[in-house]
Amino acid sequence: MTRLGPPAAFLALAAALFIGTSALPRDSRPDLLLVSIDCLRADHVGVYGCKRPTTPIVDRLANRGVRFAAAVAASDWTLASVGSFMTGMQPSRHGAVSPAEPLSLDVPTLAERLAAAGYQTGAFVCSVYNQKLGLERGFASYQGSGPIPADARLLARDAAAWWRSIGHSVRNMIPWTRRPRFMWVHFLDPHAPYLPREPYYSAFHPAPYSGPYRFDKERDPNQAVDVGKRLSVDDRDQLLALYDSEVRYTDTALGKLLESVDLSTTMLAVTADHGEEFKEHEQIGHGLNLSRQCLLVPLVFAGASVQCGHVVTAQVGLVHLAATFAAAGDAGLEPPMDAGPLQGCLQFPAQLPSRPVYSEQMESSHNLDVYSRVLGRQHALLQLERGTDTVWGVQVFDWDANWEEQDCAFEPANPVHAAARDALLTYARRMRPQLAEIRRKRVRPAALPPGQLKDLRALGYLR
Ligand SMILES: [Zn+2]
Repeated sequence: MTRLGPPAAFLALAAALFIGTSALPRDSRPDLLLVSIDCLRADHVGVYGCKRPTTPIVDRLANRGVRFAAAVAASDWTLASVGSFMTGMQPSRHGAVSPAEPLSLDVPTLAERLAAAGYQTGAFVCSVYNQKLGLERGFASYQGSGPIPADARLLARDAAAWWRSIGHSVRNMIPWTRRPRFMWVHFLDPHAPYLPREPYYSAFHPAPYSGPYRFDKERDPNQAVDVGKRLSVDDRDQLLALYDSEVRYTDTALGKLLESVDLSTTMLAVTADHGEEFKEHEQIGHGLNLSRQCLLVPLVFAGASVQCGHVVTAQVGLVHLAATFAAAGDAGLEPPMDAGPLQGCLQFPAQLPSRPVYSEQMESSHNLDVYSRVLGRQHALLQLERGTDTVWGVQVFDWDANWEEQDCAFEPANPVHAAARDALLTYARRMRPQLAEIRRKRVRPAALPPGQLKDLRALGYLR
């Protein structure tokens, strides 16, 4: 719990004694905290089935709050996915579909909506996507801390300091001048390079590794496929132990951050921007396709206005996060977003109807635009030649039959295959003109600073 510094306590007490607080309006809206963890795939989180003790803090939050068992990222790389959960729009509708394309200025961000509604906004973001790309819009305080390697402990320390300083300010001590806080924290640690975080790494990988790979060093962007094909079982075990040690290190940092947060007055969500591949499709990393491993992420709500111990089983897009936070902050939902608020199943033990969730990838080096649809236990992918209607491939997977997505469940002659293909083509045709309009309005792509270009290349982008 927090303590008042002497000046703030004196002013608050004096004001309360002099005027009395009972008759004065008080802003009772919750504080809002959104935590995203880069590259954290769902099945490496304890409550999502991970056998290692990677996430005791997230697990505890899930057990006291609401967990979405099938949360789907809007894309499999950072800017496009974060852009969606920060605007409530699909990637083609916010426009940040490649590292040189910022969020459309016509699309308000969640932070802009909440700031306009009176929230005090701060972001602590470890990512290379920190400059001129639009994620910073609406944050009065924005700390972007690159380059890699990241350190979740330091980011949590800085975020906690901001959270406490705003909470202890004189303005917030006086009930009728209080303005609630909105903070976004984005941890990068589980992103490559994967560092051996102790004592977790030794616990996860007790035998010494003598293989040829240095997964703790910066990765050549072109390595994803080549290395993925060559990995032995030992190499992959080493890779997973390193990754899981980074996940546990980040979870511990999240726990430290939450020591400064009163969850009785704060609504908290923890999620990830996308997952990561570990040779399931002969490659490692993300931003390569829209596989289950890259799209399914954790999504857990806890704290103020959140029901206890509830699991939502139907698939849901992270794109709902913006409207959910906007609704919690009474910020209004105009202009409308692509996905509405989730309060119906946060405040009551309700389930969501099963609706298709779409994702997009227009950034890979294969000159393909890839679209994904998750519907129940069925996951369909459509690859189009970039910018055209020419179908390059369609895959339809059944997660009950093949969780790793190595074999398609439905052949082209199957009506299920045709229906999925048609739905994805319809979605792509609906989205493409909207993205074209955003691009037409842009004068020119954002000119990224040289340092940011270097960081993007180091992380495997801008192939
Ligand atoms: Zn990312």
